[in-house]
Amino acid sequence: MNGHLFLATSAPGSTVWAGPGRIFVRYPVRRGTLINLVGLTRTDTWVAGGWLNRVAMTDWLAKYQGWHRDVTTAIAATDDVSIIAWGLFACDPLPTIVEGRVALMGGSAHPVLPFMGQSAAMAIKDGVILDRVFAEVLTVAEALGVLKRSASRAQTLSSTSR
Ligand SMILES: Cc1cc2nc3c(=O)[nH]c(=O)nc-3n(C[C@H](O)[C@H](O)[C@H](O)COP(=O)(O)OP(=O)(O)OC[C@H]3O[C@@H](n4cnc5c(N)ncnc54)[C@H](O)[C@@H]3O)c2cc1C
Repeated sequence: MNGHLFLATSAPGSTVWAGPGRIFVRYPVRRGTLINLVGLTRTDTWVAGGWLNRVAMTDWLAKYQGWHRDVTTAIAATDDVSIIAWGLFACDPLPTIVEGRVALMGGSAHPVLPFMGQSAAMAIKDGVILDRVFAEVLTVAEALGVLKRSASRAQTLSSTSR
C-alpha cells in the first residue's frame, strides 16, 4: 500500500483491528513511503507450504467484508503481486534442544506464534546467554546446559501464545 493513501485514513499510525476469528494490522515501513498490511485468519484447511503463495486482492478483501473502512480501503489499494499468504503453525515443544555439542537456538529451538511479539527477543536472548556463559569459561556441555534450561521458559511462552 502506498504511504500517501495511509495519511488519508481515519486513524493514521500503526493500528490493529480485531474481530471474531480475524485480526488486521497496519504499520508504515521505509519511512512511511510504504505501508505493510497483515491479515491473520484461522483455518483448519491450510495445505500449501512455502512463503510465496499468491492471493488475489478480491479474495483477501472478501475475508474482511463489513470491517472498518480503513481496512477495506487499504486492502483494495493493494495489487495481487504484493499479496503473499503463508501458514503459521503451532508447534509442540521439542523433547530437547541440545544433543552432544550441538544446540538449536531461536526459532528452530522454540518456534512461537507471533501473537505476543516476543519470539525475536527470545532468539536474541539465546545468543546473549551463550555469549555470557562462554565468557565464564564453562565447558561446552555446561554452557549448553544453561541454554537448555533457559529455553524451557521460551517453550512455555510458545505453548501459551496459540
Ligand atoms: C508473521 C510473523 C510476525 C512476527 N512478529 C514478531 C514480532 O512482532 N516480534 C517478535 O519479537 N518476533 C516476531 N516474529 C518472530 C521472529 O520473526 C522470529 O522469532 C525470529 O525471526 C527468529 O529468528 P531466528 O534467527 O531464530 O530464525 P529465522 O529468522 O527464521 O532465521 C532462520 C534462517 O535460516 C534459514 N534457513 C532455514 N533452513 C536453512 C537451511 N537448511 N540452510 C540454510 N539456511 C536455512 C532461513 O531461510 C532463515 O533465513 C514474527 C514472526 C512471524 C512469522
